[in-house]
Amino acid sequence: MRSVAIIGSGPAGWTAAIYAARASLNPILFEGSEPGGQLMTTTEVENFPGFIHGIQGPELMQVLREQAKRFGTEIVSAMVESLKQVEGGFELVSNGQTYRAQTVILSTGATAKRLGLESEKRLYGRGVSACATCDGFFFKGKNVIVVGGGDSAMEESSFLTRFAEKVYLVHRRDSFRASKIMQDRVKANPKIEIIWNSEVTDILGEEKVTAAVLKNIVTGETREMPIDGVFAAIGHAPNISLVQGLVDLDEKGYVVTLPGSTRTNVPGLFACGDVQDAKYRQAITAAGTGCMAALDAERFLSGH
Ligand code: NAP
Repeated sequence: MRSVAIIGSGPAGWTAAIYAARASLNPILFEGSEPGGQLMTTTEVENFPGFIHGIQGPELMQVLREQAKRFGTEIVSAMVESLKQVEGGFELVSNGQTYRAQTVILSTGATAKRLGLESEKRLYGRGVSACATCDGFFFKGKNVIVVGGGDSAMEESSFLTRFAEKVYLVHRRDSFRASKIMQDRVKANPKIEIIWNSEVTDILGEEKVTAAVLKNIVTGETREMPIDGVFAAIGHAPNISLVQGLVDLDEKGYVVTLPGSTRTNVPGLFACGDVQDAKYRQAITAAGTGCMAALDAERFLSGH
């Protein structure tokens, strides 16, 4: 029976590992099928404190991994296939092998929903993004499309006007689901033009995005629009398949943690990072809650 098993290898998971390892808890961390998480698809990260000239997303993840390893974290480069509560802790199965741990730190993250286009995959990181906070800076003086009609789309559109010359907000219906105050802000912004009842059906470009194909879903008309960037802001989905039925989830499917802590309703199970955060979703906030989870696990273990 180990003390701490950490599931997920984004900033939350690695930070939890660094803290748990330094507390001599000998953590084991399961990296999952997409080691490093969402930052692996980001280019320059300029808002993670400590890197004066920024750092590439994959490099940041590599540095965090090395730091966790340096203090003795055992790393398993595989998915956890199942997780269940057993006497005195939890049982995890990964790659056909069974592991037992007194506490589990869940840091499986969230996945930005994508439009589902082949061209979106091909041009991801080359004009296509799902994170204005991460990539907006690269669109200074450019024209961009934001897709979506929720609060995220409003927020991302408004944020992007700091850099972009023009933001086209493309929504598939004729009304937004976003809160009124955020809609009003968007509608009052002269740099944002709303394109209603429309979908992006293709993104064009070889090395980088040069145009998007828009389809008006009322008239059926399609047109090609020259553009430098396409931001999908159509929501995130927390990666909760391992804990469905085990732990309390909120109405959006995120793991519920006790306010001000990373404790879930299951004793010994802690959640950190984007799997329990629908609001901030930043690398640094994920790292912060990863630290909290390790401290919470340590306290739990010393009380048992
Ligand atoms: P959301 O509320 O689920 O909105 C997603 C939007 O994307 C909807 O307008 C939806 O269209 C559209 N959409 C979904 N799939 C699409 C697709 N395949 N193609 C085109 N459009 C698609 O997600 P969210 O905006 O990320 O917000 C998530 C939660 O976080 C919300 O509760 C929100 O209030 C909260 N949030 C709050 C803030 C804030 O308060 N500062 C900021 C961001 C998010 P339909 O409307 O037609 O379904």
